[in-house]
Amino acid sequence: MAKPKIGIMYLTSCAGCQCEILNYEEALLKLLDLTEIKYFPIGSSANTLDEELDVLFVEGSVSTSLDEEMVKKGREKAKVLVAIGTCACFGGVQANNNDVPVDELLETVYGTTDMPFKITHARPVEEVVKVDYSLPGCPVDGKQFVYATAFLLNGVKPFFPKMAVCYECKLSETECRTLQGLFCLGPITTAGCGAPCTSKGLGCQGCRGDHDAPNYKEMVEVLSERGLKGKDMINFMKVFRGNYLKEKLKDAGVE
Ligand code: SF4
Ligand code: SF4
Ligand code: SF4
Repeated sequence: MAKPKIGIMYLTSCAGCQCEILNYEEALLKLLDLTEIKYFPIGSSANTLDEELDVLFVEGSVSTSLDEEMVKKGREKAKVLVAIGTCACFGGVQANNNDVPVDELLETVYGTTDMPFKITHARPVEEVVKVDYSLPGCPVDGKQFVYATAFLLNGVKPFFPKMAVCYECKLSETECRTLQGLFCLGPITTAGCGAPCTSKGLGCQGCRGDHDAPNYKEMVEVLSERGLKGKDMINFMKVFRGNYLKEKLKDAGVE
């Protein structure tokens, strides 16, 4: 029986999600055994996008005309497309300055707006092509990547419940960092990472994005009570939510 064909593509990103996958050596060897990896530029020198793919994983945000061409080509070839990592799912850290005009950003960073291709604001993949599944996280969680792949290769829809990171603190009996006076976005953020930040004594910065029912109004109140207000609070909250924070705060009436 022919092995399923998969691809792992990257757009504008830091390649951290691909590294997370490469770090899962045992699972990767199994994957090589069970599938044909047709496209994975960071892990292979033989890559093609000319064949149909059963599953294509896409890392990174759509931030240039080249990204757009690439992801559209990938979509045409893929039966199932999975956005991996926060850049691909929500725009990522590079969407932080999406309220600044692109030309102004180019002038600040490169001192010119003359680029060899078109640069746009950082967009999540779903703004450009249809996304079948999303696995957020900065980086994507290696275990979730493996589970999702196993589900998909068996024709089963991956399912990860969207609970708050607080849930994972309770499971691991981690002391609450908010109660210790730290700033923590865990109450509005999707669990699934195993709460590595809070268990190491930090607050959650919210890299996995919103769970199903985030209470922004309450979150803002909690942060304000701990002294984080105005621009400082917005900057803290927008690191991984740059593409949609403004809208969410407006919806919650806390602009
Ligand atoms: S989600 Fe994070 S780790 Fe993954 S590519 Fe984007 S910045 Fe890098
Ligand atoms: S540390 Fe943060 S994520 Fe953990 S229980 Fe407290 S508020 Fe929730
Ligand atoms: S605890 Fe928060 S910031 Fe840390 S990995 Fe999980 S979601 Fe991301």
